[in-house]
Amino acid sequence: MKNELAKIYANTADAITKAETPEKIEEIRIECLGRKGALTAILRALKDLTAEERKTIGEEANKIRQKIESRLREKKIELERTSRESILKKEWIDVTRPGKQIKKGTLHPITQLLREAESIFASMGFATIEGPEVETEYYNFDALNIPENHPARDMWDTFWLKKLDNSEDRLLLRTHTSPMQIRYMESHNPPIRIIVPGRVYRYEATDASHDIQFYQLEGLMVDKNISIANFKAIIRLFFSRLFEKEITIRLRPSFFPFTEPSFEVDISCIICGQKGCSVCKQSGWLELAGAGMVHPNVFKAAGYNPKEVQGFAFGMGVNRIAMMKYKIPDIRLFHSGDLRFLKQF
Ligand SMILES: [Zn+2]
Repeated sequence: MKNELAKIYANTADAITKAETPEKIEEIRIECLGRKGALTAILRALKDLTAEERKTIGEEANKIRQKIESRLREKKIELERTSRESILKKEWIDVTRPGKQIKKGTLHPITQLLREAESIFASMGFATIEGPEVETEYYNFDALNIPENHPARDMWDTFWLKKLDNSEDRLLLRTHTSPMQIRYMESHNPPIRIIVPGRVYRYEATDASHDIQFYQLEGLMVDKNISIANFKAIIRLFFSRLFEKEITIRLRPSFFPFTEPSFEVDISCIICGQKGCSVCKQSGWLELAGAGMVHPNVFKAAGYNPKEVQGFAFGMGVNRIAMMKYKIPDIRLFHSGDLRFLKQF
């Protein structure tokens, strides 16, 4: 029986050494120590032995059982550890690896230009004001000295909108940012220094220099003694800083219903420095804004006394200025959503 015990131990120990999974260890344990296990059978047979034999074989069998149990335990712990390590190895993530690069957008050239313009005007004391893009007929035309029968209304082909049930006024997409002159003067007293950047709409065919929606920058300065000289100085400083070079200003007589006198504002060509080029059509001048002294009827519409205040107003096409500054050949690119175009800025 002693031999048998030694054999059981040798076989079991060998099996434990070769075991590769915790499940195999459990199998070995059942084969040796389970209800029908080899060692269990020996322990059960002890009762048939003499008292002397029972003592020696019994002691030996118990020793072997303890040894096997402790070896099974150690091997099981070892196998569980290696299997955990292999899972960790399989699911390992290198947290030090550089992540996926997130694509960053850029500011639209119009946004960039507006921000720069706003900061230049802010340095001269002008506040930036915004207004509604859906306007009433009154603010877009009537209050700006453009009555129903005035021929100037033909100058703008307009997007008219459905009238709201409770509104007296017809609604439209504003054709210029000038309605904010009235809205602002209605709620503020002079002195006034504001600019109004914003989107405006014209119902017309598009081509390289015309789009149905574009940005305007409106300006208004009102006080007791504001003159054209003030306007000329401010606008020259603005364009000089925007284009980062010394600019000369030329005013030409023109007509706008809401200003009197009115003029077109030309700046010395920023491309050729007045030597003559294709951009300025060899004239040396670029027409970039319209302006004038605020018409007395506009002051009246806003509730001011035209005998007490005077001021100038101007408007410029932001897209056209951005095209000049960034050398963009087609106005329609601004709304094209073309990333190849936008990524250049
Ligand atoms: Zn030129």
